[in-house]
Amino acid sequence: MTQIVATVDFAKEGKQVGWLRVPHSVTRSAYGIVPVPIAVLRNGPGPAILLTAGTHGDEYEGQVVLTRLIQQLQPEEMRGLLIVMPALNAPAAIAGSRVSPLDEGNLNRAFPGDPDGGPTWKIADYVGNHLVPMVDVVGDFHGGGASLAYRPHASTHFSPDSGTELRERSLAAVKALGIPHVMIFESRSAAGGMSAATRKHGKIYLNGEYGGTASVSRESVALVDQAVRRLLAFFGTRNDRFEPLPEPEVLSVFGTEAYVYASDPGVFVPAVRLGDTVRKGDLCGHLYFPETPERAAVEMVFEGSGDVVCQRHPARVERGDCLAHLARPVMSPAR
Ligand SMILES: [Zn+2]
Repeated sequence: MTQIVATVDFAKEGKQVGWLRVPHSVTRSAYGIVPVPIAVLRNGPGPAILLTAGTHGDEYEGQVVLTRLIQQLQPEEMRGLLIVMPALNAPAAIAGSRVSPLDEGNLNRAFPGDPDGGPTWKIADYVGNHLVPMVDVVGDFHGGGASLAYRPHASTHFSPDSGTELRERSLAAVKALGIPHVMIFESRSAAGGMSAATRKHGKIYLNGEYGGTASVSRESVALVDQAVRRLLAFFGTRNDRFEPLPEPEVLSVFGTEAYVYASDPGVFVPAVRLGDTVRKGDLCGHLYFPETPERAAVEMVFEGSGDVVCQRHPARVERGDCLAHLARPVMSPAR
């Protein structure tokens, strides 16, 4: 049983902007709540879609685009149900951090959540067990965060047991978002992600990383803005028509050999750029040790072959920090 109280009525026609009240009792506020913003737009029968951003508080494009969508979209301009949450882990979004300052919770590792857990776990439980069952599609917009820089991409996630119909529909949808690069994540492990909580209900899950480095630009906001508009048109929420775009390149994120991790603490100087194609054994970059100047630099190499789609942003690294990851173009992703 959730302890979260919604100030919006999900069955009501029209547009409501309100809050999920997440109870959080602490010394400075015994009966306090954490308000999580939520908008509900409903206009008759039609597709039911949940759009979220701020799952990680240091990823901004989706937060901006969904805020504007709430202000601009009127229910008579759409059909069906649209639930919009621009700052899903609100405490993290306000702090501009990946995890919540209230409970150190990483919302995209907290699913299926816990109705009696910390605020992050309460939110995860509410999304997975109350909101996802109400909709056909979840679009969660990410942005790389403070530690990473991504080549912008839209993505969808499968597990090995995802049915053919769900795969094909998800792939068609993600390719329709107008982003030149599309990535497919296929994994058995749930890892606490919203994707697993969505797939569990047989619903379409769309995601994407549209930037990174804890920054935001007019270009990256425009990219997500058109992705959201195209998403709403693809599923029939709105009737917008778009110029056809070239078919996006579809890439698959393969196993652990796609990732390079720092072997030692130091200063990392990358040898490649986002979008470069590399082979197994190629140089990823050098680790330098200014605090031990006589120690030779360490070469970090790629353990697999593919395109560099993500790189670490801050130069200083700890052992185990992800320095880069690869993805591979696929020919026939839908199987
Ligand atoms: Zn993220």
